[in-house]
Amino acid sequence: MGISRILIANRGEIALRIHRAAHEMGIETVAVHSTADAEAMHVRLADHAVCIGPPSATESYLNTAAIISAAEITDADAIHPGYGFMSENAQFADIVEAHGIKWIGPKPEHIRTMGDKVQAKKTAGALGLPLVPGSDGAVSDFDEMRRIAEEIGFPVIAKAAAGGGGRGMKVIPSADKLESLVRQAMNEAKSAFGDDTMYLEKYLGNPRHIEFQVFGDGNGNAIHLGERDCSLQRRHQKVFEEAPSPVITPEERDRMGSLVANAMADMGYRGAGTIEFLWENGEFYFIEMNTRLQVEHPVTEAITGMDLVREQIRIADGKPLSVTQEDLQFHGHAIECRINAEDPFTFAPSPGKVTYYHQAGGMHVRVDSGLYAGYTIPPYYDSMIAKLIVYGRTREGCLMRLRRALEEMVIEGVKTSIPLHQELIHQPDIISGDYTIKWLEEWLEKRA
Ligand code: ADP
Repeated sequence: MGISRILIANRGEIALRIHRAAHEMGIETVAVHSTADAEAMHVRLADHAVCIGPPSATESYLNTAAIISAAEITDADAIHPGYGFMSENAQFADIVEAHGIKWIGPKPEHIRTMGDKVQAKKTAGALGLPLVPGSDGAVSDFDEMRRIAEEIGFPVIAKAAAGGGGRGMKVIPSADKLESLVRQAMNEAKSAFGDDTMYLEKYLGNPRHIEFQVFGDGNGNAIHLGERDCSLQRRHQKVFEEAPSPVITPEERDRMGSLVANAMADMGYRGAGTIEFLWENGEFYFIEMNTRLQVEHPVTEAITGMDLVREQIRIADGKPLSVTQEDLQFHGHAIECRINAEDPFTFAPSPGKVTYYHQAGGMHVRVDSGLYAGYTIPPYYDSMIAKLIVYGRTREGCLMRLRRALEEMVIEGVKTSIPLHQELIHQPDIISGDYTIKWLEEWLEKRA
């Protein structure tokens, strides 16, 4: 018997996204939610709903016992963790499997290895992926750090082994600043992840962020679904993503894609994964692997025609990959804008009641969002409230459609990032695709 009821251990747009894929497959859904999310759209649409705790995520969306109990009382036979929260928690994945519930995610051992960025880099190196030059593993001694930094050359970046979401990272311009900046990064890492293990990397001057989507069946077969360019960032957080990357040729895609797919096949990787690289002067440098579905997965869906959540569910159910590398084709261009409930230029959070909501539509326009008029955006969680994804046969066509779609989006009652995106898509560098991970912050500074 295959999966018949999936518990969605998440909230917001991704919970709705998972619900949709499940229902299209004839699978029932169980929403688990905090008291703050009782009125959420995915809770309304799910077949079953269980309140698992108060607003605080530690007591609800991160509460293992409450989630497992909800799965048991509702007879869910699988758990999809979405992104964030439990998605990269290997211990949680172990517990889910120990309860005889299918984990819609990678093997816990792979989550564990890749969740430690020092281990991840070692593994990636051993699998033949090119790395950012840096310390050979973790370093804790400041003298040794200075020696390594002199060797690779300043600036360097100190990164937390347990890091994520752009936290626990500091750029170090020179030797005299090293100790104080590393201590700051360590404090941040300690409070965010409970682990202040650090490593050093060469700080690349002006790279792009290019990541490859991979899928494995867990039995030694793996494919890649091309790359996404996520170079438009603020504070190491993605704002706008596109696929394919404006700078990657089909030959490069094939070459790097085969390299990462082969690496995943060698590992026996199961499910969806993303291998992140920095790209500078035509060279790729591995930075980390995410063992989950990414926020920006819809741009890959748009250019491949594949439903990545459906694929995840099929693999968790023991089915083979639904396509071979040869069958998989890339068509056209897709862009995603992340829409947050915040001031578009100061980025101050703006939770509250949505008084009016109208989403863009029309050909090749997709909005992933749980918003509706009258919904109150709670202040306790991530500020992302919607994703606008637009497809076009060419990048130029995609940008034109995106302009039109952004004009149609109306969210009233709270401030959102829509005005930011509206300005961005008129910038010559965005139109030409000539931007790096530094571009947005520099542009924001000039604009201010
Ligand atoms: P996290 O897991 O916190 O997202 P990553 O290692 O994926 O951290 O890095 C996030 C972002 O930080 C990258 O997309 C890039 O913008 C920047 N970054 C990370 N490492 C480097 C580096 N060695 N040189 C320059 N920028 C970097």
